[in-house]
Amino acid sequence: MLILSDVKAYDALVVGMGPAGATAAYQLSKAGLSVLGLDKATHPRYKVCGGGLSARIDHILEDDYKSVVEHTVYGIQFSYRGADPFCLDSSSPIAYMVMRDRFDHFLLEKAKRAGSEVHESEPVTSCRQLPDGIEVITDRGRYLAKVDRESVGLVSGQALLVGDAAHLIDPLFGEGIYYAVRSGQLAAESILNQAHDRRRSLADYEEAVRREIYEEFRVAARMASIVYSYPRLCHRLLSRYQSIVKLYYDVLRGRETYQTFYVRAKGMAKASAKELLLEAISLR
Ligand SMILES: Cc1cc2nc3c(=O)[nH]c(=O)nc-3n(C[C@H](O)[C@H](O)[C@H](O)COP(=O)(O)OP(=O)(O)OC[C@H]3O[C@@H](n4cnc5c(N)ncnc54)[C@H](O)[C@@H]3O)c2cc1C
Repeated sequence: MLILSDVKAYDALVVGMGPAGATAAYQLSKAGLSVLGLDKATHPRYKVCGGGLSARIDHILEDDYKSVVEHTVYGIQFSYRGADPFCLDSSSPIAYMVMRDRFDHFLLEKAKRAGSEVHESEPVTSCRQLPDGIEVITDRGRYLAKVDRESVGLVSGQALLVGDAAHLIDPLFGEGIYYAVRSGQLAAESILNQAHDRRRSLADYEEAVRREIYEEFRVAARMASIVYSYPRLCHRLLSRYQSIVKLYYDVLRGRETYQTFYVRAKGMAKASAKELLLEAISLR
């Protein structure tokens, strides 16, 4: 029988070293906290994923991630049920393609270089809140996140959920990597703020996610309900009003938000409302 008597204490524990966890670990280590990252897999590990990063990732990752970019995307082909294709190219990147084994491994190694201790092939089996911190248990050991009873990636009132664990997936096209990285950064920011100023609270993280991500998802969900309810009409509309597609490319580049895009695209579409209505009737 395994006896887990020794408890190792860290300032922060990160459970899961995907893009969200590895980013949080990197930021926390860089700021001088002692961090343990635990992952059930051994990296580089295969991950089922399209590997598409919208170019807005350039605003939040340091440039060295480009070393693991396989392709840069300058245009998209749109078709409806494989027919009526049209392409719209752009002079600057709108997305990057990565292989998740290389990309995630890159982020994990970066966290390690910043000082994070990382245990791979060590799944977390349980965790609980103790008076002096959050305890995490694996089949190899017991760990305690001692600073302000905080942990990242665990379900607890004192812990922060990031990335997929927090359901941060764009409702329009299922993009999750950008939001995993961003939420990892926001979580680290919130933990560091509280470590420096006891009056700050972890609720800051929720507020930042609400402001920066949920507000965007609210609009993206509205757009998704239109696109997936009327795909044929949307395809026709986009092939005719390619300025709307170009505007969407600016969302991918982080120059527009979903919120500003929606307002402007609605304005463009309204200008041809009568034509659109006839189009919709003919497609019913
Ligand atoms: C088919 C498919 C295609 C997708 N395509 C895209 C795309 O093109 N672009 C895009 O942006 N997003 C895409 N996504 C979404 C994207 O994969 C996720 O949003 C992203 O991986 C979230 O990152 P994460 O760090 O939150 O989680 P993950 O990348 O899933 O990392 C979680 C980590 O936690 C570890 N772990 C899990 N349980 C434990 C445990 N008990 N103990 C220790 N470690 C544990 C895992 O081993 C893993 O390494 C796609 C998803 C799917 C399913």
